[in-house]
Formats: sequence, C-alpha cells, structure tokens
Amino acid sequence: MFSYWEQQSFLDYDHIVVGAGIVGLNVAIELRQHYSNARILVLERGLMTTGASSRNAGFACMGSATELLDDLTKMTEDEVLALFDMRKKGLSALRQRLGDRTIDYVENGSYELIHEDALSAVEQLDFLNKLLLPITGKPAFLLVNHKIKQFGFSSSFTKALIENTCEGGLNTGKMLRALTDLALQLNIEIKTGASVDRFEEGSNHVTVFVPDLIRNDCWALRSKTLSICTNAFAGQLLPHEDVVPGRGQVLITKPIAHLKFKGIYHFDEGYYYFREINGSVLIGGGRNLDIKGETTTDLGSNDAIQRVLMQYLQETILPGTLFEVEQCWSGIMAFGATKMPIVKAFSNQVFGAFRMGGMGVALGTEIATDLVNKINDTILNN
Ligand SMILES: Cc1cc2nc3c(=O)[nH]c(=O)nc-3n(C[C@H](O)[C@H](O)[C@H](O)COP(=O)(O)OP(=O)(O)OC[C@H]3O[C@@H](n4cnc5c(N)ncnc54)[C@H](O)[C@@H]3O)c2cc1C
Repeated sequence: MFSYWEQQSFLDYDHIVVGAGIVGLNVAIELRQHYSNARILVLERGLMTTGASSRNAGFACMGSATELLDDLTKMTEDEVLALFDMRKKGLSALRQRLGDRTIDYVENGSYELIHEDALSAVEQLDFLNKLLLPITGKPAFLLVNHKIKQFGFSSSFTKALIENTCEGGLNTGKMLRALTDLALQLNIEIKTGASVDRFEEGSNHVTVFVPDLIRNDCWALRSKTLSICTNAFAGQLLPHEDVVPGRGQVLITKPIAHLKFKGIYHFDEGYYYFREINGSVLIGGGRNLDIKGETTTDLGSNDAIQRVLMQYLQETILPGTLFEVEQCWSGIMAFGATKMPIVKAFSNQVFGAFRMGGMGVALGTEIATDLVNKINDTILNN
C-alpha cells in the first residue's frame, strides 16, 4: 500500500527509460534536450548498470577489415555502410557529449593481426577503402607489416598487420560514470535496484510495474512514454523480438614493464580483441569457441575460453614476456539474425532500442538519437 505522499509525488512521469547502460542513459539525456520540463526516470535493475556497458573493452570500433568482409557476406553493401556510418556518427556524438579528456578517448592506433588463414583480406583492402571512402574521407585500412616486430607479436601467428585509421579507445568506466553524472545534472531521476517486471498500455499512458521486495508490494509507475533499452535482456519485456544474449569473457594482466605496444587490436573477424590500458593488457573474446555455453544472461566465467585467452597472451601477443593476470570478468551482449540493432516504435507509447552486438560503445549514442527522433515524431503526430 502506498502513502498519500508517495502517490502524489512518485508515481507519474513523462518519460520512463528502462536500462541504465550507454543506450538508456543517452536516450534519457537526449529526451531532456527536447523536453526541458519533463519528468524523466531511468529504471535500472542492478545497483548499477549490469549488462555490457560497464564490462566491455572500451574499443570505439568501426569494424576490422576481416569483420567488415565477413559482414559483406551476410549483409548488403548498403547495410554494411549504414552500420559503419552509424558507428562513426555515434562515436563522434559521444565524444562531443562527454569530451575526450573526460572519457580518456585516445587514438593510439588500431590494428588487426592477420594470421595465415585470413591473408586473403590483405588483397581486399583497396576494395574496402574505396567502399568506405565516402564516409571516412581517407583510406580506412593500411598494411603496416613493419610494425609486427616493433610490437613484439609472434611472427608465426601474425602474417600481416592492418592499421585502421578510424578507431580509438576509451576508458569505459569513466565514460559510464560521466554519462550517469550528466543525466543526474540534467535532473533525470535514476532509480537502481528497480527491475521492471512488465508493462501495460492504457489509452494515454503506460503503467510500468516494478516489484519492491522490502515492501512486499509492486510499484505501478505511470508514464506517457516508455523506452526499453535493456539490450540482451530485452526479450523479458518484449518476448517476440529477435534478441539472443551472448556472454563475453575478458581478462586483464597486471601492469607489464616495457610493454611494446599501445592502442587497440583485433583478430579473427573481431572475435578476439586486446588493448593496452594503464600499462596492462586487456584481452577478450573467444565466444565463437563455445557459442552454446555463452548464449546466456548469466554473468559467469568460462574456464575453457579464459584458458585460450591466456594462451593467446603467452604465445601470440606477449611471447617471451612474463606477466600475471590481475582479474577476469564477463559481460552480456545481444545478438540476432542480423547485426543491425533494433530501434523501434512498438506503439505510440512504447519504444525500444537494443541488440547492440559488440558495437555499443561507438553505436550507442547514435542509436539513442534515432530512438528519440522516433519518440518525437510519434508525439508530434498524436
Ligand atoms: C565483454 C564485452 C566486451 C565488449 N567490448 C566492446 C567494445 O570494445 N566496443 C564496443 O563498442 N562494444 C563492446 N561491447 C558491447 C557493448 O558493451 C554493448 O553493445 C553496449 O554496452 C550495450 O549497451 P546497452 O545500454 O544497450 O546495454 P547494457 O549496457 O547491457 O544495459 C542494459 C541495462 O538494462 C538493465 N536491465 C535489464 N533488464 C532490466 C529490467 N527488466 N528492468 C530494469 N533494468 C533492466 C541491465 O541491468 C543493464 O544495466 C562489449 C560487450 C561485452 C560484454
């Protein structure tokens, strides 16, 4: 049972956003830019963001050469270009919103290690550069084999090295913190520990149900619009949508003296990635080794994949260098039949932006703009 005061002051909102990840926070911030007096609430089931946004690798990535070539076998050229363009616009909007210094955005080089089986990609760099030129304005990919030795990578694995001139890295924790701080500064309410159970649409509002275990009751919050930004968990509230969770494993070493490289690195169509951060090496990926086991929303570890990541560190990335692992973790991504994110108006009150794949850092801000444009159009037309 709610008090008179709670009913008066805490149940009604103009816009409710579910999920306090990169997408949800950007949606709330962007809504504020359009509706200066609106009451905007973000509901997050965890004590803090608990999906991908605080657990990723911080690559502001547009796509490696082998990843884009693989995409071109599954998607049309127009779709691949559209996705590349969205990532580019999203990254630029994120940097503008938060500032490079706040999020430690740096372009220390982005490279792809090409092993024997992927060497055909090297012959297709001219094709990719021409395809992307209208968006990049400069060649996106350069062959830089002379750097293999400089970086100290195993030459028996690394048969070629491709530089990507459009990517950078950032500090994921600082980015998410800055987005949260900005939302709070903009008078956006954020309630954590608030797991939305379901919603119901009325004629002029949506009711959002949030169980409260302490009161043994359920909050019924009313809002003019509801935006579902729960990425891998979107299927809970929108069971008909094509969203498949995919867990990603990550590990980070203790700082390594005289590390020979900085920047961000990929191999195997983006399935593996590593980077330097504060003198340590972070490595992640290998989901393709156990797709079934990693199709889960459970934040657990996969020892077999972690062992392979260790092996890549020992044999390929840091051969001959002694290192220790500092910590391991996992995060949950969202995939579907295509790589395109879902950004949709489900009615004139319920909206959703989710299924960001492994691209949400660069993509998230642009996807939020797209969703808020859909909300605005719907409001204007009703
Ligand atoms: C290991 C790993 C490495 C990655 N590396 C990169 C990278 O280097 N570069 C890159 O671009 N992308 C990377 N990604 C992907 C990127 O992190 C995601 O695409 C992005 O964070 C998705 O943001 P989001 O806001 O859509 O989802 P999330 O960050 O998952 O946020 C969704 C939020 O919704 C909340 N939620 C879910 N259900 C409910 C509910 N019912 N009620 C209330 N709240 C709910 C969750 O707790 C969560 O906090 C990586 C992901 C992982 C897991």
